[in-house]
Amino acid sequence: MNPLPTFASDLPATFGPETPSHLLVVDDQPINIQALYQIFHADHEVFMATSGAQALEICANNPPDLILLDVVMPGMDGLEVCRRLKADPLTANIPVIFVTGQSDPADETRGFETGAVDFISKPVNPAVVRARVKTHLTLKAQTDLLRSLVFIDGLTGVANRRHFDESFATEWRHCRRKTSSLALLMIDIDFFKLYNDHYGHPAGDACLQAVGATLKQGFGRSHDLVARYGGEEFVCLMPECDRAGALIKAEALRLAIAQLAIPHAASPVALVVTLSIGVAALVPGEQDQPRDLVNLADLALYKAKKEGRNRVCNSD
Ligand code: GH3
Ligand code: MG
Ligand code: MG
Repeated sequence: MNPLPTFASDLPATFGPETPSHLLVVDDQPINIQALYQIFHADHEVFMATSGAQALEICANNPPDLILLDVVMPGMDGLEVCRRLKADPLTANIPVIFVTGQSDPADETRGFETGAVDFISKPVNPAVVRARVKTHLTLKAQTDLLRSLVFIDGLTGVANRRHFDESFATEWRHCRRKTSSLALLMIDIDFFKLYNDHYGHPAGDACLQAVGATLKQGFGRSHDLVARYGGEEFVCLMPECDRAGALIKAEALRLAIAQLAIPHAASPVALVVTLSIGVAALVPGEQDQPRDLVNLADLALYKAKKEGRNRVCNSD
């Protein structure tokens, strides 16, 4: 449901310390697989497939970082495998290098047209294939990192507004199709201006980070999304969740932040940093707009503020 990374820990594994990247070698001749395995197994995790169908299955279950793909295979050939990988958003970004006995420029052109990033001829030269794989793995890791940074809030590490807007549109359509409830929590820190005035802006930033991390921890389900909506406001998107479930979650989050016990000496409502949360949920109908759900949650948040803050209010 939610393919975009939302936290620093979701960044590409290739940037983690000493994480071996994961290669898939596809060839109908085991001896060719063996040759590539010998070149890479010391530094990489190498998976193998002896047919196009098997390669697609592996990619669907456990997408590799890069694929070394034979062109001529019985059944589904490498070109078709590559075409199918590129047509699926979940596998489209995996670089494919064709490994082929043919050296016809027309065949190479066809390979690039299907979306391959490179061509290597058999028999492979270990130094050359190693260098090319390294180049493409580096490029892939850089692209993944940039793609993920575009969707992460720099201060708190949770999803940013752009990520929220995209996920909201997707989940709205999903819940409308399934006639299931979509819940939204609008979350605002109480008297945060006074917090900044009292403790200083850097302390305010640290407080936002702590609140963001705690909200994020509160969500076990992978398709729930916590995002920074702006300033000291956060939003939680909960697909396939009804109002009762959302109210329980909101109350748990309110409590979790209060229990962080971040001192807020300037707050008129508590000794510690507290949240006001507005809850809204609906089954998206044909006449409804995503904006309606945000407005309902905003109204509920306004009510929570008006009724004294440090509380959860419902949109009804
Ligand atoms: P209320 O309880 O009604 O929500 O009061 P409030 O003071 O929290 O609300 P208000 O909207 O008046 O002030 C929000 C404050 O949040 C003002 C702004 O300086 C602060 N703020 C917004 N973004 C950041 C940020 O990135 N870092 C820090 N430190 N403060 C921020
Ligand atoms: Mg605010
Ligand atoms: Mg506030």
